[in-house]
Amino acid sequence: MSTITPSHPLTGACFCGAVTYALSAPPVLRAYCHCTQCQRLTGCPFIHTIHFPASAFAWTHDSPVDSFVNPLKPWKTRTRCRACGVTVSSHNSKTDRISVWGPHLARDDSGHILRWAELRPTAHIFYGTRLLDIGDGLGKWEGYEGTSEKIA
Ligand SMILES: [Zn+2]
Ligand SMILES: [Zn+2]
Repeated sequence: MSTITPSHPLTGACFCGAVTYALSAPPVLRAYCHCTQCQRLTGCPFIHTIHFPASAFAWTHDSPVDSFVNPLKPWKTRTRCRACGVTVSSHNSKTDRISVWGPHLARDDSGHILRWAELRPTAHIFYGTRLLDIGDGLGKWEGYEGTSEKIA
């Protein structure tokens, strides 16, 4: 059972720390995403993505943010920090979910993401466009976990 609640929220921040947010409900999806959009946006082969109901998300800083839309996926509005340029969230207007990336979440003194048991990826998604093969025990999916073809 998850423990992410309004009184015990999850917190995250951009690279420079000017933009911060809190999440007050458990995630609805947590996975390593290998899609080409995440690859282009992060410069990494895949990224730990975590989806929440949009109602659970709140900004916790004062500075203005920039929002942008990729014309190929106009239902997704991404938001980035004006100071460091890092994209910190994406809102999907089709599902009314917000996604954040695990590496931005709060960590302990050893550098480990807090509350990992609640956030740990359960699958690899959009694995068809992977840049490398992953040999862990998690399921590999063509699209989203459970609603697309399972590749491995
Ligand atoms: Zn920043
Ligand atoms: Zn992706």
